Amino acid sequence: MKLAAFLLRYFRHYVGWAMVAAVAALLYGILTAGIVALIEPIFGEVLLAGEHSPVGLTVGEIEPQQGDAGTEQVGDMASRMKRFAAHFQLKDRLDDGYESLKKRFGINETNVVYFLPLLVVGIFLSRSLANFVSGYSFQRIGLGMTNDLRNDLYRRVLTQSSRFHAAHPSGELISRVVNDVGVMQSAVSYQVVDLVQQTLTLLFLVALLLSTHFQLAITCLVVTPIFLFPIVRFGSGMRKSSHRSQERMADLANLVGEGVRGHRVVKAFGMEGFEIEKFRRATKRHLRVNLWAQMLSTLSSPVVESLGVIGVAVLLVYAGLQIRAGALSAPLFVAFLINLFWMYEPIRKLNKVNLVLQQALAAAHRVQDVIQVPNEIREAPDAGTLETVEEDVHFKDVSFAYEKQPVLENVSLRIRKGEVVALVGPSGAGKSTLVNLLPRFFDPNSGGIEIDGIDIRELTLKSLRSLIGLVTQDTVLFDDSIRANIGYGRSDLPLEQIREAAAAAYADDFIMQTPSGYDTRVGEAGVHLSGGQRQRLAIARALLKNAPILILDEATSQLDSESEALVQKALSTLMAGRTTLVIAHRLSTVMNADRIVVMDGGKIVEQGDHEELLAVGGLYRRLYDLQFEA
Ligand code: ADP
Repeated sequence: MKLAAFLLRYFRHYVGWAMVAAVAALLYGILTAGIVALIEPIFGEVLLAGEHSPVGLTVGEIEPQQGDAGTEQVGDMASRMKRFAAHFQLKDRLDDGYESLKKRFGINETNVVYFLPLLVVGIFLSRSLANFVSGYSFQRIGLGMTNDLRNDLYRRVLTQSSRFHAAHPSGELISRVVNDVGVMQSAVSYQVVDLVQQTLTLLFLVALLLSTHFQLAITCLVVTPIFLFPIVRFGSGMRKSSHRSQERMADLANLVGEGVRGHRVVKAFGMEGFEIEKFRRATKRHLRVNLWAQMLSTLSSPVVESLGVIGVAVLLVYAGLQIRAGALSAPLFVAFLINLFWMYEPIRKLNKVNLVLQQALAAAHRVQDVIQVPNEIREAPDAGTLETVEEDVHFKDVSFAYEKQPVLENVSLRIRKGEVVALVGPSGAGKSTLVNLLPRFFDPNSGGIEIDGIDIRELTLKSLRSLIGLVTQDTVLFDDSIRANIGYGRSDLPLEQIREAAAAAYADDFIMQTPSGYDTRVGEAGVHLSGGQRQRLAIARALLKNAPILILDEATSQLDSESEALVQKALSTLMAGRTTLVIAHRLSTVMNADRIVVMDGGKIVEQGDHEELLAVGGLYRRLYDLQFEA
C-alpha cells in the first residue's frame, strides 16, 4: 500500500477536526493579510498625516511627466503595472473593506487616530483566536491519529508469529512504537499546522504583494527559487540521515538489551572490555550520523537566511530608485516592505516544516514496514472451537524451516490423552521448534497437527491456545502483583483460588514471606525472586489455567536441590492427568515419562521407555551417559 493511503486510513476519523482546522487556518491567513493591508493607512492616515507626503497616492495616480525620457519610461511601466495589478484584486478589496468600515463608523481624519489602532487590535485578537483554534485542531488530529496508530502497531506486533519476532529484535520494535510514532506525532501536531497555516498565509501575502506593486513584487518573487533550491536539497539530506540515525539508535538499544540481560555471561568470560568497545563503536556511528543530521539541520537556516538578505538588498536598491523617480509613495513602499518581511516568517517556518516532515515521512515508512508485514498465523474464516482433548494430539508428517535450512523433517508423533512424552536430544535438534508449532507460534511448512482429528488451523487461535498450558525455561513475570501474575488473564478469580493454585505449586509459603504477600510486586521493578520461585509461580499460573495440554520446557540451569525438589513436586502436580509434552533436561522427568522421544537433526531417531532405550544403546544411551551419569 502507498504511504499516503496508509496514513489516510488513520486520518479518516478526523475529517471533522480537519475542516475546523482548515477554516481557522484560512481565517488566520486572511487576517494576517488584513493587518498588512492596514500598514499603508497606518502610515498615511495616522503617522504621517501632518507631513508633506504623497498621502494616499497609489500607483495609478502617478502620471508620467512630459519631456523627460527617464520618467516617461517610469510612466510606461506604471501604466503597465496598473493593468497587471488589476488582476490581483486583494489589496483593492481589503482597502474597500477598510473604507466601508470607516464610512459605517463615521470615521474622519481626526478620530481615525483612535479607530485604526482599535481595528488593528480587533484583527490581531481574531487572528490569535484563529491561530489557537487551528493549532488545537491540528493537535487533536495529530495526537489522535498517532494514538490509533500506536495501538494498531502494538496489536500487530503482539499478534505476529514467532518468525516475525525472530526477524525483528525487541529493540527495533520498541523504537518503532515509541520513537518513530513519536516523531510522526510531533510532525502532525506541530508541523502540519504550520504547513497549512503558513502556506495559506504566504499565498495571501503574495497576492497582497502583487496587488500592492506588481513589478516590484514580481522582481521579488523571481528571487524565490534561489531560496527553494537549498530547502529541497537540505530536505532530502535530512531524510536520509534521519533514517540512518533511527537505525543506529535501534542498534544501540539492542546492544544495551543484550549486555544488560547477559551481564553475567559477559563478566564470567571477562568480556566487559569487548562489549564496552562494541558499544563504543556503535555510539560512535550513531554520533556521526546524528552530527551530520544536526549539521544539515542547523546549516539550513543560516544558508536560507543569507540568501534572503541578499535578495532583500537587491530589492531595496530597485525600490530606492523607483521612489526617487516618484513612481512610489512612501507609505505604499513601507507597506510593501513590511509585507515582504512578513512573508519571511512563513517561508522560514515552511522551511523547517519541510525538514521535520521529511523526518516524519521516514518514520512513517519504517512504521508502515512493520505494520504491513502480513501475519502468517491466520485463522480460518470458519474456524471452530474445541473444549478439551478426548483422544490425542497428533503431529502428522511435520516439516519446518525458519529460513532455507530444514529444522524439522517429516516428524510424526502421536500423544494420547493423558500421556507424558519427554523430548530429549542434543541442543539444536528441533525440540523447542516442535513444541512451538502446537500453539501455532509458527505454522509448519508441510504436514499438520491435529487434536482429536481436527487440524489446529481449523480452530480459532483463542480456542486452541486455551487448550494449552505453557511453562518455559525463563519465567516471564509482568511488572505487577504476585496475585496478578499467577492469575494472568484471569483477573476475575478470587484470592482463595489463586492461593490454592500457589499452594499446589508449593509457592504459597515463600509468597507469604514476601513483604506484602500476594500483593507484592514482582517483575521488572518488583522484588527479587529465585529461579525456583519464579518457576513455581509459572507452574501455579499454568495450574490455574487448567488446560488439558501442557507444554513444559524444563530449566537447564541448575536449581539448588531443595528448590529442585519443590519444583519437581509442583510439576508432578501440574502434569497429573494432562497430555504433556516436556522438553526434558532432568533425569527424574525422563524416568517418569510414559514415553521418551529422542530427536536429532530435526528427526525422531528413537522412541521408547527408559529401559528400552538404554538397551538399544543408541543416541539416548550416549546422552544419558553424558548428561546424567557425570
Ligand atoms: P532445541 O530446542 O532442540 O535445542 P531448536 O528447536 O531450538 O532446538 O532449534 C532447532 C534449529 O533451529 C537450530 O539449528 C536452531 O539454530 C534453529 N533455530 C531456532 N530458532 C530459530 C529462529 N528463530 N530463527 C532461525 N533459526 C532458528
